[in-house]
Amino acid sequence: DRVVSGAADGDDQAVEAALRPKDLGEFVGQERVREQLDLVLRAARGRGATADHVLLSGAPGLGKTTLSMIIAAEMGAPIRITSGPAIQHAGDLAAILSSLTEGEVLFLDEIHRMSRPAEEMLYMAMEDFRVDVVVGKGPGATAIPLELPPFTLVGATTRAGLLPPPLRDRFGFTGHMEFYSPDELQRVINRSARLLDVDIAADGAAEIAGRSRGTPRIANRLLRRVRDYAQVKADGVITGQVAAQALEVYEVDGRGLDRLDRAVLTALLKLFGGGPVGLSTLAVAVGEERETVEEVAEPFLVREGLLARTPRGRVATPAAWSHLGMVPPQQVTG
Ligand code: ATP
Repeated sequence: DRVVSGAADGDDQAVEAALRPKDLGEFVGQERVREQLDLVLRAARGRGATADHVLLSGAPGLGKTTLSMIIAAEMGAPIRITSGPAIQHAGDLAAILSSLTEGEVLFLDEIHRMSRPAEEMLYMAMEDFRVDVVVGKGPGATAIPLELPPFTLVGATTRAGLLPPPLRDRFGFTGHMEFYSPDELQRVINRSARLLDVDIAADGAAEIAGRSRGTPRIANRLLRRVRDYAQVKADGVITGQVAAQALEVYEVDGRGLDRLDRAVLTALLKLFGGGPVGLSTLAVAVGEERETVEEVAEPFLVREGLLARTPRGRVATPAAWSHLGMVPPQQVTG
């Protein structure tokens, strides 16, 4: 498990519940989504109606689950949480939908990974608050219509583009979650430190924020690792220096790159002169699977402007050379 992964690990789950903002006011950043959502929810409340279905898209760990809980809380409604992969049969979905109470929020994480039949059932449920439950098999099968109470579906996906248009179109509101700025992450970290009763200096929070890859989940995880270090190796106070030393131990560098990221960049620079080099060759050079390099390391390197994927292969950018403290060959030879 990578300490800089946006996905939740077992360790995160217990703490995350305690660190989750409870209302829109406490939710840091995402100004646009927050403002739009605030309007949607206020208007629905004013009409005494159930809120429109909401689609949230964005990378793991940016706060989609948190926002869905906030939506429920702001509407004074209960919430049911499930995920696309957990719904393999239309019957699984029918069972969930038919047990919802009026106004309830149904959070469907990874909605793009639902099975086709379930997806089609969901279209009708979202639009008409009705499902057809098929009883029996073959020629004797009959569809029994089932009325549902009005509910709010909150769907989450890493990429809205992965959703079939008929599903996407049935959401009244789509919020695109962006990566957080270092400033915003610093606010997340200070808030978490307060809740965890951790003593942190401004430069300590800044140091952790700069290494958190724009992701609150990573910021909270790094904060916990740094807290351990501060407690064992320092006097418990997280200063900038303590945070930097601690994250060195966990091999997270000043820009949030971990060992794998740096191994890929180093190979690209040292063995292939900065590229272009094919993905498979690069993967062999770092002793990793192709998929690991492509799906785990590269997205962040590309986002950071350190690596480019070109038709001729992977190429290091000037920023990559300077990040590793190296000089591109053409500059050496003049
Ligand atoms: P996944 O899709 O992987 O489940 P997610 O996008 O649903 O991820 P959350 O579980 O909502 O992410 O958030 C991860 C952690 O980050 C939580 O502990 C939450 O408290 C914190 N967090 C997320 N967004 C914010 C925010 N805007 N302000 C403060 N804390 C946040």
